[in-house]
Amino acid sequence: QPILQITELSKVYPDGTVALNNVELDFKKGEFVSIIGPSGAGKSTLIRCINRLVEPSGGKIIFKEKDIVKARGKELRMIRRQIGMIFQGHNLVKRSETIRNVLHGNLGYMNSIKGGLGLFTKESIEDAIGILERVGLRDQAFKRADELSGGQQQRVGIARAMAQNPSIIMADEPIASLDPKSSEDVMRYLKKVCNEDGITALVNLHQVDFAKEFSDRIIGVRKGHIVFDGKPSDLNDRM
Ligand code: ADP
Ligand code: ADP
Repeated sequence: QPILQITELSKVYPDGTVALNNVELDFKKGEFVSIIGPSGAGKSTLIRCINRLVEPSGGKIIFKEKDIVKARGKELRMIRRQIGMIFQGHNLVKRSETIRNVLHGNLGYMNSIKGGLGLFTKESIEDAIGILERVGLRDQAFKRADELSGGQQQRVGIARAMAQNPSIIMADEPIASLDPKSSEDVMRYLKKVCNEDGITALVNLHQVDFAKEFSDRIIGVRKGHIVFDGKPSDLNDRM
């Protein structure tokens, strides 16, 4: 039973651009999947359809027996809570401490369902520190986010996604602006925490070498179509 089952997913933007054309994909629990392809292929649109930052034009995305494409309001928020997002530019509150950034993801959720007070319990703070430890940032917990390196900031992004206890994590070009050493660190920690917790990871990358090194499975996208879906070792030079 796949954790995510995508059928006939299409996206046509208002200007007529066909970004996704009848995409069919299944994802298994715990697999680490890289999505590769040239700029403009539709990678970002695919990820954004899955958490509905982009409205799909047609198709189904079944997650835990619910169709994400049809979800509204509270149901959509509950789905999004289970899908952690990591963005290219870290999206951190720069002047806030690392740990506040980690707690923030949950706080946003608390506010959205309770309409009120953000109260950090001792337990939630300990949890956040525990998660920071897992991405190698325990010593940075009380530093401001803007005191950290780009790679460390992106690892805070991983910690923040982990703090919402997701079953899927999606990352849209998480290492696009990082040097090779930091990129390696970010990918290694992301893979580690996902493997440890059985989280399914969908990672948009344009660096094929990183995709090959870290993925269980690679999906190649081109012009809105899936043109490769298989093991890294089966990826040939055409992609
Ligand atoms: P990738 O992530 O692979 O670079 P995108 O999903 O960003 O690809 O883009 C896929 C196609 O959709 C491209 O042709 C892009 O120009 C187009 N596109 C993306 N966003 C929009 C938008 N908001 N409006 C119109 N076209 C868009
Ligand atoms: P990315 O590399 O992350 O896909 P882009 O530079 O392609 O970023 O796009 C930046 C923003 O512009 C996105 O919100 C995307 O949806 C939008 N966009 C991309 N292509 C187009 C387009 N052809 N027309 C309108 N908006 C677009």
